[in-house]
Amino acid sequence: MSGILVLAEHDGGVFRKTAAELVAKAASLGASLGLDVTVGTIGDAPVGSLGAYGAQRAVRVSGDFGAYSTLQTAGAVAAMIDAVGASIVLAPASYAGKDALPRVAARLGAGFVADCTDLRADGGALVARRPMYSGKAYVDARVSAAIGIFTVRPNSFGAPAGGGAEVAVTEVAFAAVADPITVVESRVPESQAVDLTEADRIVSGGRSLGSKERFDEVIRPLGAALGATVGASRAAVDAHYAPHGEQVGQTGKTVNPQLYVAVGISGAIQHLAGMRTSRVIVAINKDATAPIMEHAAYAIVGDLFEVVPALVEALKEA
Ligand SMILES: Cc1cc2nc3c(=O)[nH]c(=O)nc-3n(C[C@H](O)[C@H](O)[C@H](O)COP(=O)(O)OP(=O)(O)OC[C@H]3O[C@@H](n4cnc5c(N)ncnc54)[C@H](O)[C@@H]3O)c2cc1C
Repeated sequence: MSGILVLAEHDGGVFRKTAAELVAKAASLGASLGLDVTVGTIGDAPVGSLGAYGAQRAVRVSGDFGAYSTLQTAGAVAAMIDAVGASIVLAPASYAGKDALPRVAARLGAGFVADCTDLRADGGALVARRPMYSGKAYVDARVSAAIGIFTVRPNSFGAPAGGGAEVAVTEVAFAAVADPITVVESRVPESQAVDLTEADRIVSGGRSLGSKERFDEVIRPLGAALGATVGASRAAVDAHYAPHGEQVGQTGKTVNPQLYVAVGISGAIQHLAGMRTSRVIVAINKDATAPIMEHAAYAIVGDLFEVVPALVEALKEA
């Protein structure tokens, strides 16, 4: 084994929360496995600053690649793995992580473990835990190939302390490849202050809200009172109560918050697939036998149109 490479994602130069979280986790794994930690990024971002969380080195592929491109990202990541001589690669289970990294693994003959929720050093090897069958079971996986690439769900390890020193950055050469795809237009959806996939607290509403107006009047104030990002079930999204970017579940976003409040959501398997690993689940439902109740640490059985406004008032007073 020769080293751990952490891929740090950023939005316009500002690192996503997962960057520090993964670097800190890599530092503790590196100490157990006897491996150095390098953090790498693509584009203009102060990657040396992530030394604060325990990286010993930093690498960067500079250049303006324009809109996100699978081919350029896969090529740039492969170049960084090669330059670092990494045997372990950690990256967020983001859209880019899900899209580009399987290609990198195929290109390098690496093992690939997606969507991990825990990583530990065991017997000199990295063992990754990941959910299977929509979260009904977990598997512990090791990679036997020379390189292992692991994507990790945001919020799996919590916020790290930081406090270390900035490290020097080495540029990695990468010549953009000819891309058969030309992006003609990018549309950025309206986004909330904290993205669902990285949120610590989420309040989601379901079909039971009955209209977009009531979703906005009932769910969003509870989100604001809790400092939470708002999500929705697919039934609520299909009925246009909330935009698709707010859908949680198998065909929506996978979330992993500390707190998930499911309001008037039954807990269908496809919804659970996207939120089951949340630390504390609170269900508000008038049906005490709804499937979501089996997963809830706290259940409030009652009419959401009475419970939620009372909760918002109580939170404001508190
Ligand atoms: C291929 C596929 C992919 C899918 N992907 C997703 C996905 O990504 N995300 C997702 O969410 N779903 C997904 N679904 C849909 C999923 O199967 C469910 O249909 C959906 O999650 C149901 O949404 P819901 O819980 O809001 O509605 P319902 O199942 O109708 O549940 C409404 C709940 O609200 C409660 N309720 C009603 N009125 C009140 C009230 N006044 N007060 C309190 N409680 C009340 C009811 O008791 C009930 O439990 C998918 C389905 C398929 C087939």
